[in-house]
Amino acid sequence: MDISENIKKYKSELPENVKLVAISKTKPNEDLMKAYHAGQRIFGENKIQEMTDKWEELPKDIEWHMVGHTQRNKVKYMAPYVSLIHAVDSLKLLKEVNKRAKQNERTINCLLQIKIAEEDSKFGIDADEVKEILNSEAYAKMENVKVVGLMGMATFTDDQDQVRSEFKHLKTVFDEFRDLYPELKELSMGMSGDYEIAVECGTTMVRIGSSIFGERNYN
Ligand SMILES: *Cc1c(COP(=O)(O)O)cnc(C)c1O
Repeated sequence: MDISENIKKYKSELPENVKLVAISKTKPNEDLMKAYHAGQRIFGENKIQEMTDKWEELPKDIEWHMVGHTQRNKVKYMAPYVSLIHAVDSLKLLKEVNKRAKQNERTINCLLQIKIAEEDSKFGIDADEVKEILNSEAYAKMENVKVVGLMGMATFTDDQDQVRSEFKHLKTVFDEFRDLYPELKELSMGMSGDYEIAVECGTTMVRIGSSIFGERNYN
């Protein structure tokens, strides 16, 4: 894998309004630095401890995104530095993020994860629950957390039509919400295997890991 070439390829290939989140989970700092030297500044991780170790060691102009399922009791470790939490799926979690952001005198941006995949294993909520959260009095009172968009993961399948219909559905939901809540600006959908479909369906952020850094080795 030529990490530097891969970053350059994605940067030239993706439309200007689509941000590249380089998903570096399980990868060593040397690999992240290769991407960094090729100009990449947004990195995504799915474990808070691992992300925090990397944040401590790597350049401070990196934007760190948490893309995995977030446990409430660990929010405090990333609250000092995280730029975007992609997979928020409850008001309870938002409350915790607000509390920890406040302690750090920051505002933390979040995306609400919508469940679009068929599989049961994928986390997320539906459009009604998103509406409930955004309309709640509790959310209105939170001064240190801001929902800036939606995130979703398509079913892991070779059936491109199914993936396309799931992404289209999410884009439709996103457009409807954006009319009501103009602060929702980001739509995070698309990974190594399906980012082209996500771009075609109007994503604003793609989360690409293995096609940049190579296959992951879980030991
Ligand atoms: C690992 C991960 C990705 C990247 O997956 P690849 O297929 O390696 O591009 C994207 N999004 C989330 C939420 C992930 O956990």
